[in-house]
Parts: sequence; structure tokens; C-alpha cells
Amino acid sequence: MIHLPDSPNDPDLPLVPVYPAIVWVCPTCETENFARMVIAELTQEEREQYGLKSGTERGYLTPPDEVECGHCGEQFETDSSFGGVDHMDDDE
Ligand SMILES: [Zn+2]
Repeated sequence: MIHLPDSPNDPDLPLVPVYPAIVWVCPTCETENFARMVIAELTQEEREQYGLKSGTERGYLTPPDEVECGHCGEQFETDSSFGGVDHMDDDE
């Protein structure tokens, strides 16, 4: 459930920047981990393939190739083949 605060800006609270992230569960220790999405560097060809306008600064958000568990330190390759991630081209 999404919690929407009554007043979006509380002047007493400092602001923190927020980032898109993925969540993954460590297969070794079952700790829930979060990893920041990274902006992929795309060639012109790839931009056209994903339907991005040429010359735009808007990037393609992708999970990192590798993640490290914050609890046990084990490292894993990420598997986004289940399709939970899409590119962020929303200006249509
Ligand atoms: Zn772990």
C-alpha cells in the first residue's frame, strides 16, 4: 500500500535524494538487499533499437551486472530475464 503524506514537504525534515533501485534476496543468507539502478551507456544503434531519440540525455536504466550481499558479502550476477525492468522512455 502506498502511503501519501498529507503535506508533501515537512520543513523540519532534511531532504535526501532518491534513486531508482532493484531489490534482490541473497540465496545464501536470505537477506533482502537493494541495489541502485545504473544508467547504461548506449551506442547510437542501441538508442534506435530502444526507440530513444538521438542526442537525448535520457538514459536507459538497468540493474548492475553484479551485486554484493550487504550481510554475508557474497557476490552474484544479476538475472533480469524475468522482465521486471523496462526502459524509462516516458516522453511520448
Ligand atoms: Zn547474503
